[in-house]
Amino acid sequence: MNSQISLIQQIDALLPQTQCGLCGHRDGCLPYAKAISEGEDANKCVPGGQPVADALAVLLQRDKLAAEESVWPIQIDGRPQRMKAVIREDECIGCTKCISACPVDAIIGSGKLMHTILTDLCTGCELCIPPCPVDCIDLVEDLKAIPNEQERNFEQDDLRGRYYAHIQREEKRRLNRKGPVVRAAIDSQLFANITQGSEDLPSIELAKKAQISHTLDAKTTIELAKIRTQIKKLEKQLSVRADEKKQQQLIDLQKQLEQLQNA
Ligand code: SF4
Ligand code: SF4
Ligand code: SF4
Repeated sequence: MNSQISLIQQIDALLPQTQCGLCGHRDGCLPYAKAISEGEDANKCVPGGQPVADALAVLLQRDKLAAEESVWPIQIDGRPQRMKAVIREDECIGCTKCISACPVDAIIGSGKLMHTILTDLCTGCELCIPPCPVDCIDLVEDLKAIPNEQERNFEQDDLRGRYYAHIQREEKRRLNRKGPVVRAAIDSQLFANITQGSEDLPSIELAKKAQISHTLDAKTTIELAKIRTQIKKLEKQLSVRADEKKQQQLIDLQKQLEQLQNA
């Protein structure tokens, strides 16, 4: 088992950590790494292109296969053009659906407020585009310099960490979530199994309904209900007339709600 986990980790280390699901593994790079370790072809990572397919073939001592084609042109490093998402902010209605969809938490904003993308973190995975009800997210070429190997490894580690933090947070919210659920539920069991057998991967712990309800004592439950009511009231008022003070109150209450839910 440990040697299989070590192989999955070595494969995962070569994958770009875009978590886009274009390899056919909806939940991202780690599930694809696992499938490759069990015999699946290693040429399906679209953003990785030919360099990743070749590196995997060398690692696994398999024949080199032509990489799955991308719709984007190929860069000088042999990988497809890197892309970034940009929100047309004047059209955004602040519905928050893109936030849940982003695997690396590159979008900031809260209910009824304009959203924006932190372009340094965006990997161009495109997962925020389908959920947007007003189609106000565009993809543009990422004109940043192509990273060297060291920079790429650093970036991949950062994206992996961000994705696992995202999974852990979604896992905590899963059982008492009130907001929109956009992305299909991530198979957190798989991540928990693999990460718990590895010292190098950030571990994912599964939420259990019983544990969650024990931690939510009566006082917290009442407090949560109170905050939700205040949020609804403020959202209603703000949908009629903008008010800076009330907007700030709303943001503070949303933060409080999130802290209590994650406690
Ligand atoms: S980056 Fe590659 S391996 Fe990771 S999810 Fe996308 S296609 Fe799959
Ligand atoms: S902002 Fe959109 S395109 Fe960029 S990483 Fe997040 S989900 Fe992917
Ligand atoms: S999904 Fe679209 S409309 Fe909704 S917050 Fe994101 S960018 Fe704005």
